[in-house]
Amino acid sequence: MNNATGRQVIIEVRDLVKQYGAFQAVKGISFEVYEGEIFGLLGPNGAGKSTSLEIMETLRIKTSGTVRISGFSLDSEPEKIKRIIGVQLQTSGFYPGLKLTELIELFNGLYNESADPMALLRTVNLEDKASANYKSLSGGQKQRFSIATTLINKPKIIFLDEPTTGLDPQARRNLWELIRDIRRQGTTVIITTHYMDEAEFLCDRVAIMDEGRIVAIDSPGKMIDDLLERGFQRHREMKGANLEDVFIAMTGHGLRED
Ligand code: ADP
Repeated sequence: MNNATGRQVIIEVRDLVKQYGAFQAVKGISFEVYEGEIFGLLGPNGAGKSTSLEIMETLRIKTSGTVRISGFSLDSEPEKIKRIIGVQLQTSGFYPGLKLTELIELFNGLYNESADPMALLRTVNLEDKASANYKSLSGGQKQRFSIATTLINKPKIIFLDEPTTGLDPQARRNLWELIRDIRRQGTTVIITTHYMDEAEFLCDRVAIMDEGRIVAIDSPGKMIDDLLERGFQRHREMKGANLEDVFIAMTGHGLRED
């Protein structure tokens, strides 16, 4: 599938609606995701991000609309979609007492794959934790491990739902690098986040959702330029650095989790 800009479309969502009883959580959204991009779904709590994400992940039933992923129809070919996507489970979904290698073998069994546990752990920089129990990992390590599990079936697309929530600045930046690395290998990444610095750093394009609708969709840079063009002015002049820059300058980029 090619769109007007000549870019390869890997996800196409048209008029997607999700109704929970009388409440319409997603009100007919349409958008495309291009192959190889990092695409962000942003919006306040309750905007409909998780619902939309879970529908694309084949985990939730839509009310109406069409979704095509890598050319496959969500309605008639969900099994084919499942084979080419990687879904990040909530970290609470892992058996806490199992070693990381054991958990990967468990996932291998579930996906009918034969990923090399050590190679997979190497991609997320957790090789030295191979024999550690999941519960002994730091927050950042748990997130890196959960991202590793999305890669087991060598997916074309991975979905990450708030992957850096609750992490310290070092661990967040480390995860950003990991997500960029994964994209560099050619994987398309769909991510939700509440951190606008994260979206600005990572995402090629973002869709901003509010109350079940997409209210803006573009690259972060273009959105900022458009806002300025509309006459937006900050209340306060920005300095050349912020408090997070101070924090990183004082405490370094090194991870603190061992
Ligand atoms: P977000 O991820 O943007 O915070 P959600 O997709 O989780 O938004 O939720 C969108 C809206 O749908 C919210 O008002 C939420 O309360 C409602 N909602 C989500 N899941 C259900 C459900 N299973 N049953 C009823 N309402 C739901």
